[in-house]
Amino acid sequence: MLTELTIGEAAARLRRKAISSRELTQACLSAIEHLNGRLNAYITVCADEALAQADAADRKFSQQSGDELSPMLGIPLAIKDLFCTKGIRTTAASRILENFIPPYESTITEKLLADGAVFLGKANLDEFAMGSSNLNSAFGAVENPWKRKGDDTFLVPGGSSGGSAAAVAAGMALGATGTDTGGSIRQPSAYCGITGIKPTYGRCSRWGIVAYASSLDQAGPMARNVEDCAIMLASMAGFDPKDSTSVEKSVPDYRAACNRSIKGMKIGIPAEYRVQGMPAEIEAVWQQGINWLKEAGCEIVDVSLPHTQYGLATYYIVAPAEASSNLARYDGVRFGKRVEGESLEAMYERTRAEGFGKEVRRRILMGTYVLSAGYYEAYYLRAQKVRTLIRRDFTEAFQKVDMLLTPTAPSAAFAKGEHMNDPVQMYLNDIFTVPASMAGVPALALPAGLDHQGLPLGLQLIGRPFDEESLCAVGSVMEKAAGFTHRPAIRAGV
Ligand code: GLN
Repeated sequence: MLTELTIGEAAARLRRKAISSRELTQACLSAIEHLNGRLNAYITVCADEALAQADAADRKFSQQSGDELSPMLGIPLAIKDLFCTKGIRTTAASRILENFIPPYESTITEKLLADGAVFLGKANLDEFAMGSSNLNSAFGAVENPWKRKGDDTFLVPGGSSGGSAAAVAAGMALGATGTDTGGSIRQPSAYCGITGIKPTYGRCSRWGIVAYASSLDQAGPMARNVEDCAIMLASMAGFDPKDSTSVEKSVPDYRAACNRSIKGMKIGIPAEYRVQGMPAEIEAVWQQGINWLKEAGCEIVDVSLPHTQYGLATYYIVAPAEASSNLARYDGVRFGKRVEGESLEAMYERTRAEGFGKEVRRRILMGTYVLSAGYYEAYYLRAQKVRTLIRRDFTEAFQKVDMLLTPTAPSAAFAKGEHMNDPVQMYLNDIFTVPASMAGVPALALPAGLDHQGLPLGLQLIGRPFDEESLCAVGSVMEKAAGFTHRPAIRAGV
């Protein structure tokens, strides 16, 4: 099945001219046609543009020798609908941007296009990337292609990059872009049995990505294995003068790093990630991961990240504060939707009341509250101080170890309806992913096994700043040991 190929394998076959990009793209488009009505992984499908890009790639293959060409050439991807794409509607899964057609291309998508990638369409997400379930999309929920054994219950794909994860898992794309502010690449990757990398803050440009919380947002790859993520990351990463927080560092060969030896590496196991009430199966997968790394010659070291317990509380002050400021720009004047009113103020109010969904309104309220005079010191400033302590925990741990191993999420994919009445329950999903975001350090999520219901469980590796290479190296070893070849119930060709 063409839709089951990894990016690495597809690139090799394209080079040998065993397949064409048009065939590959067509196979993904057929899968989308078949499955998207149910899974709702894409908000917008760009079939004509994709086929034209595929033809352009095929022309390049016929003109140039393979060695000069990027491994992304002719590879069909899903693009999270948070990346602005020139001339193609970009909604952030919000009514307020329902008809927004950007006049510019985000740096990340521009880099991928420059390498010849094919864009199948714009993937669904939680509105403005706020959520852990993809239930917060104005364009409807995304269904996880995985099913509990003998049970057809609608499971969530995780979020906010749920459309990206579902598309990759179900064979509706070979890879996808995601963004991660507090876990949005890693948690949906875990729920859908795929691999994802949240790079170091500053590694990938944020220019042209609809902003959620600017000091946390990072773009990254989501794909079927570590090597595919490495290939995509090499294309996405790099300095961008248009993003003042992007870092001027050369981009290493992530793909080569996948074959590095990891013998003698020190892997830390943070005590604070053993949270109360964690399912025994997740504990067991974690232990399994530890054993794989021991067998590969790593030294396992117990470490402590004492401020972990404040991670979520701090995140849910900092992220909404930044969001409330970032989302002030949607006022009915400059972007997107406008609902007229008798006065300017009434127009603002109506536009924002009708344009934003419930969770987004909740975040704006929390954010303006913690930033308001009288509360600023008590909440926002204090949260910034705690954030510094969280970051320091990681710096200290990385003096003793090269990397940390933890579970990715505290549960497997849950059903629509569960965790829904209490927003705090939903926020708990991010308990293991948020600290790395607060610290700005890179992290990789990969599938490590199945639970008793047949759903994927993920492990997370957290690395030193800008050491995505080691994540690729250790991730590759774990992936081989895990031998995760399970596929979801709903997928192309089934
Ligand atoms: N679930 C988290 C939130 O709702 C993280 C989302 C993200 O990383 N974009 O904020």
